[in-house]
Order: sequence, then C-alpha cells, then structure tokens
Amino acid sequence: MDITFKKAEILKDHPEDSALGFGTVFTDYMFNMDYSPAEGWHNPRIEPYGPIEMEPSSMVLHYGQAIFEGLKAYKTDSGEIQLFRPEANLSRLNKSGHMLCMPELDEEFILEALIELLKVEKNWVPGAAGTSLYIRPTIIATDPYIGLRSSNTYRFFIILSPVGAYYPEGFNPVKIWVTTDYVRAVRGGVGQAKTAGNYAASLYATNLANKDGYTQVMWLDGVELKYVEEVGSMNIFFVIGDELITPELNRSILSGVTRDSVIKLAKSWGLKVVERKISIDEIYEAHETGELKEIFGSGTAAVISPVGNIKYNGKEITIGDGSVGPLSAKLFKDLMDLQYGKTEDPFNWIMPVG
Ligand SMILES: *Cc1c(COP(=O)(O)O)cnc(C)c1O
Repeated sequence: MDITFKKAEILKDHPEDSALGFGTVFTDYMFNMDYSPAEGWHNPRIEPYGPIEMEPSSMVLHYGQAIFEGLKAYKTDSGEIQLFRPEANLSRLNKSGHMLCMPELDEEFILEALIELLKVEKNWVPGAAGTSLYIRPTIIATDPYIGLRSSNTYRFFIILSPVGAYYPEGFNPVKIWVTTDYVRAVRGGVGQAKTAGNYAASLYATNLANKDGYTQVMWLDGVELKYVEEVGSMNIFFVIGDELITPELNRSILSGVTRDSVIKLAKSWGLKVVERKISIDEIYEAHETGELKEIFGSGTAAVISPVGNIKYNGKEITIGDGSVGPLSAKLFKDLMDLQYGKTEDPFNWIMPVG
C-alpha cells in the first residue's frame, strides 16, 4: 500500500524544549488509515494534524471500543532519531485489538508508516536532556450505530507530541496510596489490553489518592484485594532481600515494554528476578523485617518511578530512607542511556529512524 501525503498550509511554531510538558502540543502531521470489511485497512495517508469528523453516533463514543499505544522517539547527541522496541508496542496493539474485537493491523506496514511520519516530523523531536517525541497510535470504532455490537468500521491514527523531561525537578520518589475500595481490572476482564475504558475506570480512585496528598494509586487484584498488580498506569517492582520481584502477568496486568526491559536488563546484571504473586501483606512484613529495600514503577512515560512512601489501610511506611534506591537509579540511567543512544545496545532494542 502506498502512503499518500497531503501538505500542510501552515506549519506550527515549535515550543522551547524547556517549556515542554506532557501531551499538550501536537505536531504538524498525523497518520490516518481506515478500515471497512469490504476494503480492509485502506487509504493510508500522512496529512495535517486536525479534527476527525465523525457522527455523534460513532460507536467509540458510546461503548468505548478504543485502544492505543504509547512509545517515544529519542534524539541522540549526534542528532539521529531512534525508537525503542517499537515492534513490541505494535504487537501489543494487535493483542489489545484482538480483545476489543478489532481487525488486525499489518505490524510491518504500520512500522513503515510510523517511520515515514517520523521522517516528515523529524524536526519536532526535541533535543534537550530527557525530552522526546511521544507517539500515540490509536484505533477507534466508527460505525454510526448505537446498538451494542462490535463495529464494522475503524479509524487508525498516529499522533505525535513533543514532551518534556518527566522529572524536571530531579528524579524524586513519589507517594503511593493503596486502594482497598476500587480495582483497575478484574479476572477475565480487559486489564491486559490498553483500552480506553481501563483509564476511565482508574480516575475516581486516583482523584481520591490525589486529594489525600498521594501521586498514584497502587492497584490490588480485583478478586481478593490482596495481591499487588500495578501502580497508576505503570508496572511495579519490589526489591526484597537480594531479589527483584514483580507481579506475574495474570491477564489483568498490562504487559509493559519497560517491565520486560527492566527484567532483561536486571537479569543481564546477574540479579535474581522473580515474576510471581506478591501480596500487600508480604510487602508490609518485608518492611517490618527490614528486607524491603526499594519499590519502583516502570512505564514509557517515566521509565522508572521510585516510590518513597506507601499508605495501606491508614498505615504509611517509608521505603528505605525515602530517597531513590540504587537499583532504581541504575535502571533509570541505563535504560535512558540505551534510549538516547549513549551506550551500546546488546539487546537489539534500538531502531534507528534516520
Ligand atoms: C502502558 C501501561 C503500562 C506500561 O507499559 P510500557 O509499555 O512500559 O509503557 C503499565 N500499565 C498500564 C496499565 C499501562 O497502560
């Protein structure tokens, strides 16, 4: 399939790298493609970023049949643009699509389309330390129909947003609130899909946590409210004794690309990494005995997010001495060094864009 190109009449001003936040600025162009049962995925095009015209009856607006991905393009010191494990994001997009009854995308073609879009928008990749171009591939259901079934037609698009460093004031630990009243996902649900409704469902508890002075919610499993699943929209890791422990993928946890990278990196250093169920009680016990050394979240946006405090059932504990632990700091630095091309890439995770 040939990708058509429509030139923008006017190009936008670029904000200063130092003024960049997260997710408010979008580039000049986007990629679009449509699906219908008769034509399959068709009309791939790069065109000016702009509103999507759709009917108020579009199915996505009513029943949330929507999925997305989040990855980044990084600028190296020599000005090259590179991606980090983009195939993993595209394969996860298809997995999410499968759960939401959406038609499969040709991952190779989408990667080509993304690279073509990035070549057009190369100048939008910011260069200051810690900044990047956030990439948001999305699929939405577009049938104008308000009966409940899976849609027949879809729009796939990719938008790009230059984003600032996640920790402009330094790499500091966050405070986490463990909710015992709300869950993010349940057994047999869609927790392992990056689908819109999961994020809508997380807002209420997150607002409560914020009101209480906490940054993020720690989610427990939706069946027993006992085992830790995720933190905010990140995966979670614990250093207990000399082991790095993360909840096993149980179909309600989102399988993070950063999670997988942390596991592989830590194993390559000879660390013992264990994927298993871990209860909130075990974490409090490990804190009592002094074995709990570090807790951190992992995700594309923050890379590593160290946890300084957690509160569960009214009892707040401080992790270690409340500052960033050595493993969190090393993982953060080493992953960023790979992403920004500052070190050799023995894992074959980097894809140069040009
Ligand atoms: C996206 C996401 C993650 C992190 O995934 P990465 O691929 O590492 O960015 C973790 N949990 C949830 C719920 C997510 O949506």
